Amino acid sequence: MSENKDSMPKNITELYGTNVFNGKVMKEMLPQEIFASFKKTLLMGSPLSLDMANIIAEAMKNWAIENGAYHFTHWFQPMTGITAEKHTSFIVPDGDHGVLLSFSGKELVKGESDASSFPNGGLRTTFEARGYTAWDATSYAFIKDNVLCIPTMFCSYAGEALDKKTPLIRSLEAIDKQAQRILKLFGHKDVQKIIPTVGAEQEYFLVDKELFLLRPDLLHCGRTLFGAKALKGQDMEDHYYGAIKAKVLDFMQELEEELLKLGVLSKMQHNEVAPAQHELAPLFETANIATDHNQLTMELMQDIADKHGLACLLHEKPFAGINGSGKHNNWSLITDTGHNLLDPGDTPQDNAQFLLFLMAVIKAVDSYQDLLRASVATAANDHRLGGNEAPPAIISIFLGNELTAILEAIENDTPYCGDKKQKLEIGVSTLPHFPRDVTDRNRTSPFAFTNNKFEYRMVGSALSIAHPNWIINTIVAESLESFTEVLEKSTNFTEDLQKLIKDTIKTHKKIIFNGNNYSKEWEEEAQKRGLSINKNAPDALQALIKEDNIAVLEKHHVLSRLESESRYGLLLKTYCKTVRLEALTLLEMIKKNILPDTLRYQKSLAESISLKKSLSLDFSLEETLLLKFTHYSKDMYQLLLLLEEQLITVNTHKNKERAFYYRDSVLSTMEELRAILDPLETWIPRDQWSLPTYEDLLYSVV
Ligand code: ADP
Ligand code: MG
Repeated sequence: MSENKDSMPKNITELYGTNVFNGKVMKEMLPQEIFASFKKTLLMGSPLSLDMANIIAEAMKNWAIENGAYHFTHWFQPMTGITAEKHTSFIVPDGDHGVLLSFSGKELVKGESDASSFPNGGLRTTFEARGYTAWDATSYAFIKDNVLCIPTMFCSYAGEALDKKTPLIRSLEAIDKQAQRILKLFGHKDVQKIIPTVGAEQEYFLVDKELFLLRPDLLHCGRTLFGAKALKGQDMEDHYYGAIKAKVLDFMQELEEELLKLGVLSKMQHNEVAPAQHELAPLFETANIATDHNQLTMELMQDIADKHGLACLLHEKPFAGINGSGKHNNWSLITDTGHNLLDPGDTPQDNAQFLLFLMAVIKAVDSYQDLLRASVATAANDHRLGGNEAPPAIISIFLGNELTAILEAIENDTPYCGDKKQKLEIGVSTLPHFPRDVTDRNRTSPFAFTNNKFEYRMVGSALSIAHPNWIINTIVAESLESFTEVLEKSTNFTEDLQKLIKDTIKTHKKIIFNGNNYSKEWEEEAQKRGLSINKNAPDALQALIKEDNIAVLEKHHVLSRLESESRYGLLLKTYCKTVRLEALTLLEMIKKNILPDTLRYQKSLAESISLKKSLSLDFSLEETLLLKFTHYSKDMYQLLLLLEEQLITVNTHKNKERAFYYRDSVLSTMEELRAILDPLETWIPRDQWSLPTYEDLLYSVV
C-alpha cells in the first residue's frame, strides 16, 4: 500500500465505495422502475415484494461475483458487541450436470440462524434455538474478505430483538414520526423523512504485536492489569497532534483506503494525548449506517494492525495512569431535504424551531440521565469515566455561555445582552448571532452542544454505538411527542411556543453545566442539583429496569418490557464475566511470571549474601533488599489466596448481588494486588522481569 502514498488523492474518487453495493451500482444494475420503487421503499419503509427482492438479489449476486465474492453472509450485530457472520456459498448443485450460482430474494431477505449460541439474556431457551436475520435494506451490502455481507437484524421467532441493530432501527422510526409532527406544526409540507445523523470519533492504541502477545492480560482482557508507569508518560504532552511514526502512518493509510472502499470516509486521523494513542474521525452519516460503519472500522483496525505487526487496542483503559480511549458520538437530526434541525437558522421561524429541538434534547437528557448513562455502562468504561481524562459518570449538558445566556434571557423575559441588547420573542425576533463558545475546546462535558450537533462523550471506545443512539433517539422522540401534545391543541401558536420553551428551560436547566466537569466541586454541585450519579456499571445498569425507563422504550416500540429486562440481565452477566476473566488472568500472571521472577531475584540476592559472607564483605544492602522482597512476595501470596477464595464465594451470589460482589470484593482485591505489583516491578532487574513493561509497550512502535 505504501506505493500508493502519492497517488492516494487521485484514487479517492475511484476507490470510494468500490466494495459497496450502493445506490450508484444499483442504479446501473437494476431496471429503472425497480430501482425507483426500491428507493421509495427505503424512504417510506413500505414492505418489499418478493418479486422485487428476487431481482435485487440477482443483481447483488452478479455484482458480488464480478468482484470476486462467491459467498454471502447475513452480517449482524449480536449483543456481544461484535459482529457475527455465517458464510454460505452461492454455489448449488444443478441436477447431474454440475453447479449453478444462485441467490434468491428469499435468501436475501431472511436467514435462519442458530440463536442459542448467542447471548440473549434468557429470551430464548435452547430447544427453541432458531432465530432469524432480516435484511436491513437501509444499510448497503458490501464485500469484505471476499464475502458479500448483507446487513441484517437478528430476532427470535417471536419477534424479540436479539441484537443491537433492531432497537436502533425501531428508534429511527420513533424519532422520525415525532419530529415530523413537530415540523408539520411549523408548516413544513415537503419533508418526508427525518433521520438522526451520527459521526463517531474513534480512539485507539497501537502497540507492537509481539509484545502484545507476551502480555496475557492484553491478550485476554484487552487491558493491562498492572504495570509500573513508564518514565515518560503523557506529561510531556508531545504526542498530541505530534508527527505520526512511519509504521503508524502506513497502518493509517491502509486503513483509510480499505474504509474508503467500504464507503467509510475518514475526515481526520491524528495522534492523541497519550503515547501510542490515535484517533479516527469519520464523516457523519445516518445513525444506522454510522453504526454499521463504526463496527467495520473497529474490525478493520484490528485486522490491518495485525498485518502491520501491530495490535490495535480498543479497550477503554488499556494502561493505568495515562488517558483511556473513548468514542465521541456526534449526533444531530437532518431532514431528507437536507436541513439540520439543530442548526440555528436565519429567520425567526427557523430560530423558534431550532430552539424547540434544542429543548427536546435538553428535556430528554435531563429526564432520562440514568438511561443514557446506562447505555455506556461496562466494566471497561468504569476505569475511564471520571478519571480526569474523560467525563465523569454524571450526565450534564454543555451549551456554552452564549447560548446559555440566550436561554436565561428567554426564561426571565429579560433582554439578551449579546452583541445587541434585545428582548427575544420566539417566532417573532431572530436569535442574536452567538459565536461558538471558546470553552468548547474544554472537553470535559459528557454531552456538549457543538455548533449544530450534540456530542456524547461518555461512550467507550470498544462499545457499539447502537445502544447510546437508540436511547438518544427514543428519549428525544418522547420530548417531541410531549411538545406536540401541547402545541397541537394551541390556538395561539407563537404564544404557546414561547411558554413551552420557557417552561422547559425552567424545569430542565439543572442539567446544563458549562464549567469544568473534572472538578471535585462539580460532583458536589451535581449532588445538590439532584442529578443522577452512578459511578460504576452495576449501579448504572439498574436504570434499565426502572419503571419509567422501561415505559418510555415500550411506548415508542423500541424495546418491550421483556427485552429491556433481558438486556439488563445480559449486561450484568457480561460485567461479571469480564471481571472474572480479569481476576483469573491476574492470578495466572502472578503464578506463572511475577512470583517466579521475584523468587528468582530473591535467590540471586541470597546467593550474593552467602558469597559476600564467605568473603567477609558487607552484605547489608542485599539483606535489606531480600527482606523487602520477601515481604512483597508474602503479601502478594496472601492476596492471591484471598482472590482465589473470592472467586469461589462469588458464585454463592446471584444476579445483581453477584455483580456487586465482583465490584466490591474481587475488583478491590485486584487493586490491592496492583498496589504491590506496580512498585515491585520498578525494583526487579529488567533481565529478570519476564513480561513487557509499560515502557516497552508504549514506545514499541517506531
Ligand atoms: P468538532 O470540531 O466539534 O470536533 P468536527 O467538524 O471536527 O467537529 O466533527 C467532529 C465529528 O462530528 C466528525 O466525525 C463529524 O463527521 C461529526 N459531525 C459533524 N457534523 C455532524 C452532524 N450534523 N451530525 C452528526 N455528526 C456530525
Ligand atoms: Mg469532536
